[in-house]
Amino acid sequence: MNRPVKVRFAPSPTGPLHIGGLRTALYNYLLAKKLGGQMILRIEDTDQNRFVPGAEEYIAESLAWIGIKLDQGPKEGGPYAPYRQSERKAMYFQYAMQLVNEGHAYYAFDTPEELDAMRERLKAARVQNPQYNSVTRETMKNSLTLPEDEVKARIDSGAPYVIRLKIPRKEEVRLKDLIRGWVMVHSSTLDDKVLMKSDGMPTYHLANVVDDYLMEITHVIRGEEWLPSAPLHVLLYKYLGWEDKMPQFAHLPLLLKPDGNGKLSKRDGDQLGFPVFPVDWIDPFTGDKSSGFRERGFLPEAVTNFLAFLGWNPGTEQELFTMDELIEAFTVERIGKSGTKFDFAKAKWFNHQYMLKQSNETLWTYLKNELDRNQISVQQDKGLRIVEMLKERVTFPADFWVEGKYLFSRPEAYDSQVASAKWTEEARLVINEFSKALQKLDPFMATEIKRTFEETAHTAQVKPGKVLQALRLAVTGVGAGPDLTLTMELLGKEETIHRLNNALEILVVSANV
Ligand code: GLU
Repeated sequence: MNRPVKVRFAPSPTGPLHIGGLRTALYNYLLAKKLGGQMILRIEDTDQNRFVPGAEEYIAESLAWIGIKLDQGPKEGGPYAPYRQSERKAMYFQYAMQLVNEGHAYYAFDTPEELDAMRERLKAARVQNPQYNSVTRETMKNSLTLPEDEVKARIDSGAPYVIRLKIPRKEEVRLKDLIRGWVMVHSSTLDDKVLMKSDGMPTYHLANVVDDYLMEITHVIRGEEWLPSAPLHVLLYKYLGWEDKMPQFAHLPLLLKPDGNGKLSKRDGDQLGFPVFPVDWIDPFTGDKSSGFRERGFLPEAVTNFLAFLGWNPGTEQELFTMDELIEAFTVERIGKSGTKFDFAKAKWFNHQYMLKQSNETLWTYLKNELDRNQISVQQDKGLRIVEMLKERVTFPADFWVEGKYLFSRPEAYDSQVASAKWTEEARLVINEFSKALQKLDPFMATEIKRTFEETAHTAQVKPGKVLQALRLAVTGVGAGPDLTLTMELLGKEETIHRLNNALEILVVSANV
């Protein structure tokens, strides 16, 4: 019988959520919603040494920002509460004991020094990968080698111990991954992983499997770095008698550095100047700041769309997808097997596309914020025309101010390269005449301004295109920008003429032209 679909995102609160982690959460969400299922947030905080204050809140905020709606979680509650593993501590021990009692796990009393000595011994004997495993456990202090009464005495006296999984010596462990197909691992390569630590806390492996079972998880979608743990998890399902409740696994390919060489890290972002975190994060211990997509000016819809395409594709030409469209189109079969390069230019492209989808009213609020900060007041109807003119050129909300700055302040300097190439005697002549002709122009509108410029150039027997860049230079100070005659209309007659005359006064015709 098909069980109702349940997925979980199970981060450890050890710092800010990496953008790759957010992709994992997104894929879980897309699959759950596609299949009409539920998404659970479970906080895996069994490693108290690595706990970082604020990390859980950061995770919840990042998920909410891109529009992932949780059905169950620490804040949302739900039938499997609590959703923090530290609060579920009491639940795990019984399963470890079940494994001990059925001969699939054992107590181990080895001290850190004894474990080190074992590793040293094995290294000296040229063992490549020294581990506590089906061979070496025979030489260690555990309930498989010590007499039963000694084991009991040690435990009764409160001596520290861990519980380890007894990995079979010769067994083929098979697992069907939804992305990779069949994965086969020989048990001789696995070590006897610790399930319960001496502080009474379960390790990741035990807590993760027990919770997936108790929470009736049907699909585990997680990063490829967890693939080596999967055979161990398969054995746990088998030994706990839960094989028929084992979730389906899908291990996502890694997010790679832009050049494809290795896993994307925070360092790459710092070096190459792009964020690798969803939102800003200040490390509570060091005060170090990691910058986020949100504060960089990314729209959540753009980040969602970008992340969805980092490893998945719809198999069609369509690139722009809303969350609902992604849910509709998403299938695990279309997730690629190999690592995906992080492409920041593509992230910006998506943001530009989503900026274009915003209403001019929304875009105007972005510009108005900056104008307010600079104590410049512009009427809304003019503001709407300005953003309409500039929007093809912007990637981020703050770009409106940068791209449109010349509309609010006169050029303080003129681009010298453009000046030396384009500010010719001809250009001066045409611009001078044009400035005069504009005096008489009424109404002062883009089409009329354009016609007047062309006529002036004609009369002077100069091709308008030849002096157009000089005109732009005079009005804006730079050689490129949006529609120039519309710019002049928005500046108004007086201001435009003032700028033209200013340029005629200041700019000298370069000797080399
Ligand atoms: N706590 C693990 C992590 O931080 C979860 C891995 C899994 O999804 O099983 O990524």
